[in-house]
Amino acid sequence: MTHQVVVIETGDRFDVAADESILDAARRNGVQIHSECEFGGCGTCRIQVVKGRVHYEDDFLPMSVSDEEHAEGFAAACQARLHEDVEISLANHIVSLPASHELVLEVAEVKDLCQGIRQLVLQGEALKDIEYWPGQYVNIDMGDGQQRSFSIANANSADGCLSLHIREIEGGRFTQKLLPTLQHGAKLKVTMPLGTFYYREKDWRPMVFVATGTGIAPLRAMLESLLDNDDCPPISLYWGMRNEADLYQMAEFEAWASRLYEFEFVPVLSQPSAQWQGRSGYVQDAIMADFDDLSEHAIYLCGSPAMINDARRQFVERGADADFIYADAFNLQHDLVGQDLKAEVA
Ligand SMILES: Cc1cc2nc3c(=O)[nH]c(=O)nc-3n(C[C@H](O)[C@H](O)[C@H](O)COP(=O)(O)OP(=O)(O)OC[C@H]3O[C@@H](n4cnc5c(N)ncnc54)[C@H](O)[C@@H]3O)c2cc1C
Repeated sequence: MTHQVVVIETGDRFDVAADESILDAARRNGVQIHSECEFGGCGTCRIQVVKGRVHYEDDFLPMSVSDEEHAEGFAAACQARLHEDVEISLANHIVSLPASHELVLEVAEVKDLCQGIRQLVLQGEALKDIEYWPGQYVNIDMGDGQQRSFSIANANSADGCLSLHIREIEGGRFTQKLLPTLQHGAKLKVTMPLGTFYYREKDWRPMVFVATGTGIAPLRAMLESLLDNDDCPPISLYWGMRNEADLYQMAEFEAWASRLYEFEFVPVLSQPSAQWQGRSGYVQDAIMADFDDLSEHAIYLCGSPAMINDARRQFVERGADADFIYADAFNLQHDLVGQDLKAEVA
């Protein structure tokens, strides 16, 4: 029996098994909760439960949580277990993200990037003053209370434009039905910026970027933000696609190589033609083949949830520190729970 945790600041959701702590389940799902002693003594992993209740083994409160604090909803994530679904605040575990805004933007362009993937460019004067961090995403309002999430592919919107790379989903209301019909000037309501996937400037480790499909979009934004930057760490970018024709970002990344510090770009194809001379198979397996030790790397994963889960498991076995694996899974739908995404600095 599992119960679900929803993080109000980010909308992240993850399941917690009956015998599992919230901290362990969060870690398994790539949700960061800082921790230290992990026996309930230090309070580093303190979270606030804003809906529902947690319990502890044998009903003993951990040392770091008083009766009063328990009553107010404070909990030690390393010891807390669930009998019901809960909503939690991780404000202390998240840096101060740029504030999110609702904007009405105009469609500037919809064009094919390759078979089944389109670029949607949105424009608006308001974008010139909006701050976001490369890696974050937008929610597009469907007008019926539903939203669709897409990562921002450009490093900043100082020119008043936002670029999204959108994979067509079979039967998809937005990606297959609405998107191809959007004309220049059509208006879309978006909420942005959202999400906690962004380039960790203070993490100086060499970086391994791993994407499948349009998961390349937020990594493209991060790379663009690092062009000609003297503080750019070494970057190895692995991009999993099906075949040669899918590699729509190839020329640009190759051209960027001289403007990034020690940049290596490795496309990995799952269904290449017989002529393909490069790497083939699953993108995460290519990294496992290339790195004997990942303990000194910061790892950024973006794209299919299956790749992310598999990569995370394999990379930790290869020495990667879970605290330095940053991930954005393109789940089916990303319902936002909290609208005010401005969190306190830890
Ligand atoms: C934070 C975040 C960022 C994202 N960024 C991007 C991005 O930059 N580019 C991009 O192409 N996608 C991205 N996605 C995925 C994207 O949001 C979905 O593909 C999109 O919502 C599908 O909308 P739709 O209306 O076309 O499909 P729907 O009408 O909602 O769904 C149609 C059918 O397809 C299934 N389906 C929907 N989405 C997916 C999916 N992703 N994979 C497999 N099956 C699916 C549904 O279960 C349903 O059966 C992101 C998702 C998240 C959570």
